[in-house]
Order: sequence, then C-alpha cells, then structure tokens
Amino acid sequence: MKTIYLIKYAEIGVKGKNRYVFEDALVKQIRFALKRTEGEFEVWRAQGRIYIDGPDDYSFTEDLPQGNPIDEQLRDQLGRVFGIAGFCPVVSVEDDGFDKLAEEVVSYMQRTYKEGEHTFKVFARRARKSYPMESPEICMELGGRILDACDNLSVNVHEPEIELNVEVRERIFIYSRIIPGLGGMPIGSGGKAMLLLSGGIDSPVAGYMIAKRGVSLEAVYFHAPPYTSERAKQKVVDLAEKVSIYTGPIRLHVINFTDIQMAIYEKCPHDELTIIMRRYMMRIAEHIAKETECLGLVTGESIGQVASQTMQSLLSTNEVCTLPVYRPLIAFDKQDIVDVSEKIDTYETSILPYEDCCTIFVAKHPVTRPDPEIIRRHEGNLSEVIDELMEKALTDHEVIRVHG
Ligand code: ATP
Ligand code: MG
Repeated sequence: MKTIYLIKYAEIGVKGKNRYVFEDALVKQIRFALKRTEGEFEVWRAQGRIYIDGPDDYSFTEDLPQGNPIDEQLRDQLGRVFGIAGFCPVVSVEDDGFDKLAEEVVSYMQRTYKEGEHTFKVFARRARKSYPMESPEICMELGGRILDACDNLSVNVHEPEIELNVEVRERIFIYSRIIPGLGGMPIGSGGKAMLLLSGGIDSPVAGYMIAKRGVSLEAVYFHAPPYTSERAKQKVVDLAEKVSIYTGPIRLHVINFTDIQMAIYEKCPHDELTIIMRRYMMRIAEHIAKETECLGLVTGESIGQVASQTMQSLLSTNEVCTLPVYRPLIAFDKQDIVDVSEKIDTYETSILPYEDCCTIFVAKHPVTRPDPEIIRRHEGNLSEVIDELMEKALTDHEVIRVHG
C-alpha cells in the first residue's frame, strides 16, 4: 500500500485540443512547485489524469489535519498552483484479488472515518476492462462489506456525505477526500501581460488575479530617484517576488521616470499632473509590452478609488493605449482587495511607508473629470522635450528577474 496524490482540475474550457495545452501547462507548473519542497516527487499522467508520487518507501499522510513536514510543504505548494481545483490523497494498492481489495477498502474507511456517523456511496470505475467484476457489482459488494464492518456508516445513494471512489487501473486507487486548490487556469495556458506594478496594495493583487486565468506576467515599475528611494524600489522587487510564487518568474522593468515627471511639473497645470503622468506611464508600459510580446497591460485601478480612477480619468488614461488594458479590480471595494492581498501575503509589504512617484508632486485638488481634449492640449506643452525623454527612459531601463 502506498499513498499518492490525484490532481483534480476544472474541465470546463479544456476539451479537445485545448486539453493538452492545459494539461502540459499544469504539469509544468506542478513540477515547478515541487522543486520548492525537500521531497523527491514525481508527476505523471495516465489516462487523462495527473498524479504525484513520492519515492517507493514514501507515503503521503492520509489524515488531513496533520501530515509529516514534507507532506505539508507539498500541500502548501500545491495550494499555490493555479489550475488545480483540488487534490486527493489516494491509497494505491496492488490487485491481489477482490477479498484483499475489500479488506483494504474497509480498513481505509475505518481509519479515515473513525468518529461520528456518516453516510457514504461507493463509486467504482473499471479502467482495466480485464478485471473480473463489473463496476455495479464492485460497488454493491464493497458497500456491503463496509456496512458489515462499520457501525457508524450507512448508505445514502442520493446525497452521500462521503463519496468513496475505487478505481481499478493497473493498481487500484481508493480515495474519498479532496483538499481544495486555488482553481483558475495554469500559468502558460494564456498569453503574457505587462503588469504596472507600484508599491501599493492594489497592483500586486491585480497581477495575482489575472495570472489566475493562466496569464504569465512581465512587470514595469516607474521610480523617480532621488525623490523616491532605493528602499521604495526594493519594496516593489519584494512584491514582485511574492506575486511570482503564484505566477512563476517575472521580469521587472524599472524605468527612471524623474525627468519626465519634472517636465510635466514644469509645463503642465498642476491639477492635471497625475493624469498626464499616468498617460506617460501607460505609453511607456505599452512600448515595453509590445517589445516583450505581451498581449495587454494590467493595472490595479478600481472605479472611483482616487481622482485618477474616476470613469472620466480612466477614459483619459485608456486613450493613449492600443493594447487592451485589463483591470481585474475594477469593481472591487478596497476591503476586498485588502482581503486578497492578505491571503497572498503582499499586504504587509505593500503598507510599508515608502514614497511612490505618484505621491510626490501631487496637486492638492487633482481634476476628477479631466476632459481628454484639454489634457491632450496641455500635453502639447511637452512636445519639444518629450520624445527625447521617453527614448532616454526606455534605453536606460533596468531589468530585474525575480522568482519566488
Ligand atoms: P496601487 O495600490 O496599485 O499603487 P493606487 O490605488 O495607489 O494603486 P494609483 O497610484 O492611482 O492607484 O495607480 C493606479 C495604477 O497605476 C496602479 O494600480 C498601478 O497598476 C499603476 N501604477 C501607479 N504607480 C505606478 C508606478 N510607480 N509604477 C508602476 N505602475 C504604477
Ligand atoms: Mg499607488
């Protein structure tokens, strides 16, 4: 007897040709996650299923609340892989005849459901057609033996509390418990997007949310030395690292935005600074996005959160991009965003009090309903210097590779 894991994934959207793309991406992400544990695990596929196996002498603990430390590391890691709907600890036994199987099944039920009264139903699947009994017979027979042996268990075929699965393959698999996973789609099954990553609470969450749909990430951060410090930049690197635990490696492009910001400050009305600055951020982000084969931009904006995120402001910011801009948090309340950031462990880093380039030079009363026409006209004030400044910002840009 040996315990392995069966990986369950949501099948919607993964039919036909897509299925292979999805499964390949999922296996790759699982292998990636397993490297972060101390154990020697193997991932294998058989008949449209994905399994994780330990060394021969290794068994996963079946009991959910406590496991051995390596098993716990493994569960932690699997709990961070997008595309896994859940994973089941599976007891894998050799086929030594039906009586031996029934003994194993009874013993499994006895040790797994020691306490309390429960209802159950047996689901048998005969993937190995040469097995001498058919599925309904296996169900009936095993159900009967469990009832004989366990006083606290009874059958309910309509709404069973426990779904006991018995799958006859080369070996026989017995399982009934599922540990929930994150859901979503595996990274690499979607395209790649460019995340505008600031040191705030929102953008790391936005990156996590879009990655959950299988999208891999590049990121761009605008800093303004000496007005923003090295520590503020390090904070963004740390956030990228935390996000990359879920998304896989991220290339973080760091853009020196000081000269552009100063030019805007000198030549444009101060109540429009933030919006004009945001437009240049989007233009630069889009430029790098196109060079790095990203299919869209991602921001942490949410309607009405600040002056630069009213619908009118978003219209102005959006106008300068040709790539789609994805805003996964657009309808989230702040508290909902905070909840996710706590869950993914970016919150504590995000609230560190380092200055952001958006918070220096801000106007006391920024426009909340910018008129795109007027904004465009005022941007015209920059026409003599802006091309050169943009080019300089792009050529000087630093790339930092992060992985969690
Ligand atoms: P966040 O918490 O993500 O910083 P915010 O509520 O502070 O968001 P803004 O400062 O208006 O909002 O920024 C809106 C979005 O613009 C951010 O979510 C982020 O995607 C992007 N952004 C803002 N500042 C920067 C920056 N310095 N570098 C990269 N992207 C930025
Ligand atoms: Mg911010």
